[in-house]
Amino acid sequence: MRRCEVVAWGKPLEMREYPTPEPRGSEVLVRVTACGVCHSDLHIHQGYFDLGDGERLVLEERGTRLPFTPGHEIAGEVVAMGPEAEAPGVETGREYVVFPWIGCGRCGPCLRGEENLCPRPRFLGAYEGGGYASHILVPHPRYLVPFDGLPRELACTYACSGVTAWAALGKTGVRRDDQALLLIGAGGVGMNALALAPSRVPGPVAVADIDPEKRELALGAGAAAAFDPSAPDVVERVQEWSAGGAWAVIDFVGRPETARFGLSCLVAKGGTLVVVGLYGGRLELPMPWLPLRALTLRGSYVGTLDDLRTVLRLAQEGKVPPIPVTRRPLEEANAALADLAAGRVRGRQVLVP
Ligand SMILES: [Zn+2]
Ligand SMILES: [Zn+2]
Repeated sequence: MRRCEVVAWGKPLEMREYPTPEPRGSEVLVRVTACGVCHSDLHIHQGYFDLGDGERLVLEERGTRLPFTPGHEIAGEVVAMGPEAEAPGVETGREYVVFPWIGCGRCGPCLRGEENLCPRPRFLGAYEGGGYASHILVPHPRYLVPFDGLPRELACTYACSGVTAWAALGKTGVRRDDQALLLIGAGGVGMNALALAPSRVPGPVAVADIDPEKRELALGAGAAAAFDPSAPDVVERVQEWSAGGAWAVIDFVGRPETARFGLSCLVAKGGTLVVVGLYGGRLELPMPWLPLRALTLRGSYVGTLDDLRTVLRLAQEGKVPPIPVTRRPLEEANAALADLAAGRVRGRQVLVP
C-alpha cells in the first residue's frame, strides 16, 4: 500500500510504500477511493495551531508522531474484515464514507454518541493515520456509512466539512424565519453550511468572504446576500440586510479579525457567535458585552456519527446542493495543500489514490 506522509513538519509530503495490513479483531481494511483536502490539513502539515501572542499548540506534544498520514474526509471500499468485524449493512466490495472522529469508546461522551468530544481521541488523519493513502484500517465497521447514489468525491466531504457545518448550524439558536444568519468564509465548510442551512435553520442566510469569486459562488448556491468584509461600510450593510443585525454568525475562518467582524454584525442583544475555523490567533473582548449584550460565544468542533448519517441521508434525498469538487491524483497532495493555503480553491479538492 502507499501512504502520502508528512515526514518533517512543514516540509513536502512524501509517498512511501508499506505492506498492506491485515485487519485484526473488529478492524476493517478500506481501499481509499477519495479523500478531501481540509483546511485543518494545513495545520497538521505544519505541526501546530496558532494560539496567538507567539504561543502554539504543538501536535507532537499531544501525541501525533512522524511520519504522519493526514486526511480525514475518506471514502473507500471495504476489501477485508477482521474476524470480529460485524455491523449491519457493512460488507466487503461495497463503498462507504469513513467517520473519522473516533473516540476511546468507553468514556461518557463516547457512550453518549459524542465521540468527537472524547478526551482520548483516535481521530483518523489527526491523531491516527488518515486517508492520504491507498488503504486505511478502520477500528470498527460501525464507523462506515453507505452513500449509494452520491458521487464518492462529494460524499467524502461530508465526513468533515458536512458534519462540521451541520453541527455548527445546530448551535446558532436560530429558530424563527426572521432571524438572519451570517456565515464568514465560503470555503468547503462554509459552502456546505450554505447547502445544509435550509434543512436546519428557517431564517435567511448570507455569506461574507474577501474573495469576489467565492461571493459569486455563494450567491449562485442560494446565499440571500454576499458581503465583502474588507469594505468600509460592510457592518452597516449587514445591519441593513438583517434588519438590525444577524441573530447568529458562524465564523468558519477563526481569526481575531473575523471573530471581531462577526461580533459587530450581531444583533445588539441576544446574538450568538459560533467559532469553527482554526486559523488561529487570540481574541480580546470587553467582558461587560457578555452580560450586557446577552452574548453567546461558543465553539463547535466537527460532529457525531449520527450527524454524518443525517447529512448523507439529506444528500441522498436531494436536499443538499453539491459543493464544487476538484479531483486530483494523490501524488498531487503537496500542490493541493499549496493551492488551499493560497486561497486558490473553489469548494473542495479531493485526492484520488
Ligand atoms: Zn476537516
Ligand atoms: Zn471516549
